[in-house]
Amino acid sequence: MTKIAIGQINPDTDTVCSPIAYAWFLSEKLNHPTTPKIAGELNKETKFVLQKFSLPTPEIINKFTEGDEVILLDTNNPEELVDGLESAKLIEIVDHHKLVGGLSTSEPIKVTIKPLACTATIVWQIMKDSGVSKIPKEIAGIMLSAILSDTLKFTSPTTTDEDKKAVEELNVICNEDIDKLSE
Ligand code: MN
Repeated sequence: MTKIAIGQINPDTDTVCSPIAYAWFLSEKLNHPTTPKIAGELNKETKFVLQKFSLPTPEIINKFTEGDEVILLDTNNPEELVDGLESAKLIEIVDHHKLVGGLSTSEPIKVTIKPLACTATIVWQIMKDSGVSKIPKEIAGIMLSAILSDTLKFTSPTTTDEDKKAVEELNVICNEDIDKLSE
């Protein structure tokens, strides 16, 4: 059984980086080996971010395989997923989008949806809630980049104080020049 963390087709920086960060947390801190995957090609911004923090591009998949245990990040919309979820097993959702409905499971699952500007903010909060605040620089860096991307460097009206706080805390770890990184 393979546990995979994945977002929507047409991935943006949050859709790629939140699964990488969450898979790191589940694998390294909770001892649940999880592989991040992506459902489409990286855009230019995300390519830059992964290169900057020296992280490999996750494997692209175009369908789920029977037996996959799936953690969805940055979407809860069945229309935005690769095919085959019905033969796989959805085990968790972490998202910041409105609930659109359409997903169902045979057992109760963990769902964390909050009205914040970015899934990476929620992933960081989940880590902290589990007592994990020491994380590798590159993981902090991609989460910070995802939040800057989704908030358009805090100018998006969806930006919340929690997103800003997450950037502040993550930047203690990765020590980036926010203005330069956002360019
Ligand atoms: Mn997002």
